[in-house]
Amino acid sequence: MSSAPWTFCPRCASALSSDGGMGARRRCTSATCDFVHYANPTPVVVAIVELPTGVVLARGRGWPEKVFAPISGFLEEGEDPREAVVREISEELGLAARVVSLVGVYPFAAQNQVLIAYHAVPIDGADGEIVKGDELEEVKLIPVARLKGWPFATGLAILDWLAQRNA
Ligand SMILES: [Zn+2]
Repeated sequence: MSSAPWTFCPRCASALSSDGGMGARRRCTSATCDFVHYANPTPVVVAIVELPTGVVLARGRGWPEKVFAPISGFLEEGEDPREAVVREISEELGLAARVVSLVGVYPFAAQNQVLIAYHAVPIDGADGEIVKGDELEEVKLIPVARLKGWPFATGLAILDWLAQRNA
């Protein structure tokens, strides 16, 4: 769910109104204030984590029963996306991992996000055992031969990753 647009200016508390531009951009209606709320998409890192037995897909807390996706998370302030994805893998799966490659960058307009997807594997010597973090309801391993993408959001990253493997 994308959040509701702001109603009032955070600088002067005058009303905001749509300026008719792209997306949810809103402008302060005060003649003496130039605030514009651009509502830029939020960057989110996505991890296609490959273990010897398959790729990790997870169901987040509160998600519908059948919905699984690669793990993902928000960048923290000042954080390198590659470090963020390694941190998310550690927090959500209890795995020490390293980035193999950037898979691609994808839109997720419904959530006002831009997805930065990496292929990652456990670091050398790690046992690859998953210890599920609090944000996840359920984790499963899909053998690569059975892995399928879908035509939006993180599914686009899986489609590209599978295509890159077969190239
Ligand atoms: Zn204002």
